[in-house]
This record gives sequence, C-alpha cells and structure tokens, in this order.
Amino acid sequence: MTTVAKVRKEWSSDGTHRHIEGVCTTTGTHYTRKEEVDGINRGEDWHTSAGGTTAKIKPMRYCPAAACLASPYITTAPGSHDREQPREPAGVLGAASMILIIAYDLHNPDRDYPKVEGAIKTAGGGWAHPQRSVWFVDTTEGPATWRDRLHAAADSNDEFFVAHLQQNGRVRSSGV
Ligand SMILES: [Zn+2]
Repeated sequence: MTTVAKVRKEWSSDGTHRHIEGVCTTTGTHYTRKEEVDGINRGEDWHTSAGGTTAKIKPMRYCPAAACLASPYITTAPGSHDREQPREPAGVLGAASMILIIAYDLHNPDRDYPKVEGAIKTAGGGWAHPQRSVWFVDTTEGPATWRDRLHAAADSNDEFFVAHLQQNGRVRSSGV
C-alpha cells in the first residue's frame, strides 16, 4: 500500500486555478498524477492519510474544475459504493479548490500584520503574497468564510476585501 502524505499543486494552463500536479508519499517519493494513475491501474493500492482517517485514491478522467482538460486526474473515494462523484471535504485530496484574492487595510497604530498573515498562511491549501497587503489563497472555502476569519484575527476597524478570482482572471507571480 502506498500512502500519500502531501499533494503538490500547479497552475492550470489557462491560469484560472491550481490543480493537483502530483503527490509525495510518506516515504518522500514524488509521483506525477499519471504515474499514480498508472500504478492504480496496475492494481496498486493508493491511500491518503489526513487527520487520522485514510481514503482510497481513485483515477478520474479530468480535473473537477469547469472546462479544465487536465487528464488523467485523481480523487479520493470515501465510500466504495458511491456512484456519483463525491463532494470532497475541505482539505482532502481532490477537493476542487479556488483562488481567492485578499487585500486589506489595517488601521490601528499596532497593526497586527503577523496575526492576519498567520491566519492566511495556515488556513488555506497554499498562498502567495505578491504585494504588501495583497494575498492569493488556494482554498475550498468561500470569500465570506475568509472575511470572517480575517476579521476575527484583526482589529474591529480593519478593512478586508476578499473575492474569488474568476475564469478570466490572470495571475502572474513568482513563488505561487
Ligand atoms: Zn484543472
């Protein structure tokens, strides 16, 4: 049995979202999606392990993002009797993530950047910090959830802007 410890993501070719490029196993070996699907098709048993629960990985034809033709793709199969494509819980391999843009103005004299930045870095599946007060996060949670999270980490008069980067959005940033 092969256990996946980490999922590696990459930008889709049209720049609209990040999807799974491959995985790293608990033994530290990296496999591309194709290598993993080939292994599963040879009868190998691949699992994820997250938060104490394991889930079987199964091949999918395409990335779940709309209009994305990345193929083959992988997802987890929480129940073997699931006939429909399961909606993945947040944080589990195969979840259809999106990119949010976060911008803020922190007003108080003791502007709490570390607290806000910590919330951004730990709550998402990945992040980029292209400008001082602008972030991108890779997440399965919507803008309202993020607004509330950031508000909780900041002072009451701080201002946040959170929006979903749409299909026609373009991102160009080193370190994403
Ligand atoms: Zn995709």
